[in-house]
Amino acid sequence: MRYRSTSGKAPLTSLRGATLRGLAPDGGLYLPVEIARHTPEELEEFRRLPFTEVCFRVVRPFATPDVPEEVLWQIVAEAINFPVKLVSLSPALHILELFHGPTLAFKDFGARFMARLMGYFVRGEERQLTVLVATSGDTGSAVAHGFLRVPGIRVVILYPSKRISEAQEKQFTTLGENITALEVSGTFDDCQRLVKQAFADEALNQRAFLTSANSINVARLLPQMFYHVAAYRQLPVASVPLIVSVPSGNFGNLTAGLFAKRLGLPVSRFIAATNANDAVPRYLLSGEYKPNEAVATYSNAMDVGNPNNFPRLLDLCRNRIENVRKEIWGQSATDEETLQQMHNVWDRFRYISDPHTAVGIHAWEAYRKQHPEPSQGLVLATAHPAKFAEIVQKGIGIAPPLPSRLAEYLNRPKLSLPMTTNYDNFKQFLLAH
Ligand SMILES: *Cc1c(COP(=O)(O)O)cnc(C)c1O
Repeated sequence: MRYRSTSGKAPLTSLRGATLRGLAPDGGLYLPVEIARHTPEELEEFRRLPFTEVCFRVVRPFATPDVPEEVLWQIVAEAINFPVKLVSLSPALHILELFHGPTLAFKDFGARFMARLMGYFVRGEERQLTVLVATSGDTGSAVAHGFLRVPGIRVVILYPSKRISEAQEKQFTTLGENITALEVSGTFDDCQRLVKQAFADEALNQRAFLTSANSINVARLLPQMFYHVAAYRQLPVASVPLIVSVPSGNFGNLTAGLFAKRLGLPVSRFIAATNANDAVPRYLLSGEYKPNEAVATYSNAMDVGNPNNFPRLLDLCRNRIENVRKEIWGQSATDEETLQQMHNVWDRFRYISDPHTAVGIHAWEAYRKQHPEPSQGLVLATAHPAKFAEIVQKGIGIAPPLPSRLAEYLNRPKLSLPMTTNYDNFKQFLLAH
């Protein structure tokens, strides 16, 4: 498969080029040049084959010829080593739990796959690859766990001191090995500035082999097709149109959903479910895209003012608002509505949803009110409720049970190193280690 830039001015590249580069040289985002449909017979087979085999068949056309089949098989099998669970609350409302990986959030799919793919692409390189990440919480832990013990790669994570929760901090500062956490005496913006400065520093880049692991990397999107297929495998035969509600921030998750639909999966429509950061739902109504500054909400992993995958969505819909509207419907939720929805779902089904998932359920309920014809809703559950215990408690009055995986980290010692906001200190650190 070749990859092209959404800006159309960069040369086509391979999966290797797109993965190691991240952003295209013309500032665009990489997309596969084509997505081939699977036949109905092949899709039917997807229901019967083992899940690893299905994931392998789904991703193979995107990775050929860059990655030999046996390597690709191993990457898929190692990366996706946890289940996708479908919980049907009613015949019209299904929840797809994507949070059974090591960091209890759906970002494990993208991070674990990308880490192993990058590991393969740098094999045989003399220099060690350094992955730089600035995090305000969740991305750091998914990336750290994804890359843990991947040979040839080290990860340096910058995070703002005292501005993230202890549970979040402990998940990526206690790992050691090839993962280094830098506790920066500043804000998230300071962390991001240090990382950007490092990428722009030519002298540094000649001596160190740097890359980023942020959500614009196409290698993170590919494995996110897998769980759309997992849903298809587990749902009752789709005689009733399927509506997939996607709690969205940077819209990587919804972009991968469009990939899956292009493969032939039967999805009638996607719902772009957002919190108050509602640039895309507003765009769907007005036809004008006017991003705002991000505002803080209860579903903080979706606090994105200007979603970085928006150009991909438009491109996949041939840059026409009519096409976008045909495929995607938008709905936002206030914090109040988010709490209300957590409460409703608990009341009706005794199901505990985290605030991000609640935004998705809210959007599905709104859709159903406006579209009374028969349909079934599939809501992607993007995080485990225990990761957002305080807000869940606010919504339903009790704290969600703490899974042992999360509890385990809380008892481990924090290994992070202190770092100032001064760029020269950071650069010295990168060169010295
Ligand atoms: C990152 C994240 C999202 C948003 O996903 P996008 O692909 O950025 O739209 C939603 N929920 C949780 C819990 C997340 O961590």
